[in-house]
Amino acid sequence: MVDLNLNVVKPIKMTPQSRFRFRCHPGVPCFTECCGRTTIILTPYDILRLKQRLGITSDRFLELYASRDVHDKSGLPLVLMDMPRYGGVCPFVRPVSGCQVYTDRPATCRYYPVGQGTLITEEGLDEFYFLVKEDHCKGFLEDAEWTVETWKKDQGADYYDEMNREWKAMMLRRSSSGKPDVDERHQNLFYMVMYDLDQFRRFVFKSRFLTVFEVDDDTRQRIYEDDLELLKFGYQYLKTVFRIEPALKPLSAAPESPGPKAEATPG
Ligand code: SF4
Ligand code: SF4
Repeated sequence: MVDLNLNVVKPIKMTPQSRFRFRCHPGVPCFTECCGRTTIILTPYDILRLKQRLGITSDRFLELYASRDVHDKSGLPLVLMDMPRYGGVCPFVRPVSGCQVYTDRPATCRYYPVGQGTLITEEGLDEFYFLVKEDHCKGFLEDAEWTVETWKKDQGADYYDEMNREWKAMMLRRSSSGKPDVDERHQNLFYMVMYDLDQFRRFVFKSRFLTVFEVDDDTRQRIYEDDLELLKFGYQYLKTVFRIEPALKPLSAAPESPGPKAEATPG
């Protein structure tokens, strides 16, 4: 996981072909030491996977396991794994058996000990990597060799990247605009759509949303039944609201054009 303490980051920019030696397994003397006293940012897809894994709603997940913060550069809300509430360690770690949600662990945990950074350029997102070398981590003394690319594949990180790319682009776009002053209403809207999918579903189906935006029957069915489809729909909605692109069309009979006035408010 990416610790925001930059002292532990080996300052070498890595490419997908960069090599490193590393192996983590229950036999290492530091087993689970990396699952505490760190900061894990939870992405929308991380939360989707974890709440499904635990069989709880997104609002319950956020209430039990997460804390809310604001990204200082973009002004958009972030969700962090709430370690302080669990004695400074991840709520899903156990001393002997390790991670209790391993197959649904967050992207940051999958990447570790590789960290990932992203820049927005004229060509799109430029993703780069670096090594997070912490003294307590003995995985670097093991004999397996990887490239960043083979590590990502082995850890299932590529799919997570794909699912989180739109979210990351929105965070970066707002950061590079130099205007972190997102008002509270838009912060709350972003938080609900990205992180609290079950609330967003209620918002779509129980507010006047479907009288404002054109959403065909097939899409309605898919977003009603499927969290991932709803998340993808959420990206379209936020792009419309934040005027990145008019991904959702207003209903021709709707009195307002898409944008802040046509958002329909939660509740
Ligand atoms: S989710 Fe799993 S791997 Fe990630 S910090 Fe928690 S226990 Fe460790
Ligand atoms: S080897 Fe590193 S990644 Fe594995 S348990 Fe130890 S500290 Fe964590």
